[in-house]
Amino acid sequence: MPIPVKDITGEKFGRLTAVRFIERRKNNTMWLCACECGGEKVTSAGSLRVGDAKSCGCLNREHMKRIGARRRVHDGGELDAEKVRRLFHYDPETGALTYARPVHPFKVGDTVGTVHKKSGYRVLTVNGRFYHAARVIWLHMTGTWPDGLVDHINRVRTDNKWSNLRVVSRAQNAMNVSRRKDNKSGVTGVHFHKKSGRWVAEIGQKYIGLFATKDEAAAVRKAAAEQQYGEYAGEP
Ligand SMILES: [Zn+2]
Repeated sequence: MPIPVKDITGEKFGRLTAVRFIERRKNNTMWLCACECGGEKVTSAGSLRVGDAKSCGCLNREHMKRIGARRRVHDGGELDAEKVRRLFHYDPETGALTYARPVHPFKVGDTVGTVHKKSGYRVLTVNGRFYHAARVIWLHMTGTWPDGLVDHINRVRTDNKWSNLRVVSRAQNAMNVSRRKDNKSGVTGVHFHKKSGRWVAEIGQKYIGLFATKDEAAAVRKAAAEQQYGEYAGEP
């Protein structure tokens, strides 16, 4: 014999209010419920009574958001400016980040971290946590974590000289990448750098410098290539 339907219309369970009976299911009755957030949910009277169903799912979503926020804060919160400055010395002229105190097995003055093979960025770990050196340098210099991506102006990802670092939003950074692709000068190793309004000369990933004119950049680049490649200076 089917169980009688106990009317719970209008009763409140957490954020849910039973709106109407939908169907019997096994030993339970299913109810359409309205949630305080404006959402709705179909659930059993049993779940409502024991407190398994308290919302349309919004409670859980809010909870996950809070946890995520906490985790994000924690990521940046592990290292702070004070700790970074105590641990590391940064030379803005050369971009070198070195140990300011011995951290076994490193001595004072040893370079911090390594170059990440895949990305080409200098990276380091502190207490087992992974950081981009450029971001840690930003923290070291400014006292706060960068509010966006740290961009290497000359495109050399290991060049952490202070003058070579800037913070850009993610959208800006994507624009720079595409802009670079459009900045073909027709001369190998020379492209226009829009922000500075000058021409960049480089060999492979190695940055040579910024120049006022394309010809100047090309000439310096050629001289550098001759030094580096000898008779193969005319490489494509
Ligand atoms: Zn809800």
